[in-house]
Amino acid sequence: MTRFRENRRYGATTQLLYSDMDLSDDWGVSPPIHQSVNGVAADAHEFSEMSSVPLGDQFYARHGNPTTSRLAKVISDLEGGPSGIIFASGMGAITTTLLTFLKAGDHVVAQKNHYIGTTEMVRHILPQYGIEVTLVDQRSIEEFERALKPNTQLILLESPVNPLMHLTDLKAVSDLARSRGILTFCDNTFATPINQRPMEHGVDIVMHSATKYIGGHHDLLSGSITTSQKLTERIWEMSMNTGAIPAPFNSWLALRGIRTLELRVRQQNANAMAIAKFLEEHPAVNRVYYPGLPSHPQYDLAETQMSDFGGLLTFELSGGYEAGKKFIENLDLARNAGSLGGVHSVLIQPAVMFGGRLSEEIVAKQGITPGMIRFAAGIENTADILQDIEQALAQI
Ligand SMILES: *Cc1c(COP(=O)(O)O)cnc(C)c1O
Repeated sequence: MTRFRENRRYGATTQLLYSDMDLSDDWGVSPPIHQSVNGVAADAHEFSEMSSVPLGDQFYARHGNPTTSRLAKVISDLEGGPSGIIFASGMGAITTTLLTFLKAGDHVVAQKNHYIGTTEMVRHILPQYGIEVTLVDQRSIEEFERALKPNTQLILLESPVNPLMHLTDLKAVSDLARSRGILTFCDNTFATPINQRPMEHGVDIVMHSATKYIGGHHDLLSGSITTSQKLTERIWEMSMNTGAIPAPFNSWLALRGIRTLELRVRQQNANAMAIAKFLEEHPAVNRVYYPGLPSHPQYDLAETQMSDFGGLLTFELSGGYEAGKKFIENLDLARNAGSLGGVHSVLIQPAVMFGGRLSEEIVAKQGITPGMIRFAAGIENTADILQDIEQALAQI
């Protein structure tokens, strides 16, 4: 009889392969996809149980689905949290969680820099519903402290944030919040649970856009929440009514993807570090933003709260906007695409992307310059991706 021993400390990949093996219907090495939305009850008692049990996945697919529950378990086990829930997308996870814990008259502290959808949420959408938001510089624990009010319910965190790769001191903010009974909610998408586990630093709720590293192949949308059993049940109650529910096939794809998360992320860490070091010495580059470089202003914090530094880096070409444009055109392998975290390297010129949706004023305030390139390393062989970057730079 095979068995996953919950009390044993396995390595990340072993855990990713086996932590769901005791869930029901495990008739094959690879789990089936449960496509049915409609469970059948044997009698009135079972019907009532199935329809009301928290996080139940046997009744109706908006309440839960066995394939999706399996993904929630694998992600939460890796994050080191007791429980979790999956959404149709990362934004579905964020929106539903905010709606669960916030009401008109409450106050939220968030960072000046977040993922673009989260930025819209805290700057424009929450205030429309009477929720007050204070935005702080994530690098300053004093700003977090000063922003707190008697009606502060939640602090929204994200670290690292792109494109400038600023970090938040997760332990310092969590200590501050916990002493006042405020919830902390951290977007851990870019670090991945391989490089950073926010709950170990005291964060209450951890979120991923599983679209990125967890799925890992640029072919699905998914979002996850990991937290205590009690808070998961509260988020689940909201999610039943808001309905940002994943398709079973996407959960199955994410489950297939996550088995190799550690292998992929290790290669992405190594590629990003090699690229960052190479670019830091290159005459066409003004500056490199990567938390794993000693030149990063928050390098000490990165070393304390991350075990490795991730696949994402930003650099500034001294030739400005035109140099960036040419660099992207000259690359043979890495492609110009917005979403990231999959096996292929992708890059963008943030000035192009943000120029469309945010005002120039906000772009400038975020410190984005026209010659900036955000590069998300894939799992290519390091020498090949370095060579591609080198030849593309030589031609500008
Ligand atoms: C992509 C992303 C999101 C949103 O996730 P979706 O799956 O696209 O809805 C949130 N946070 C971060 C850091 C992201 O990269």
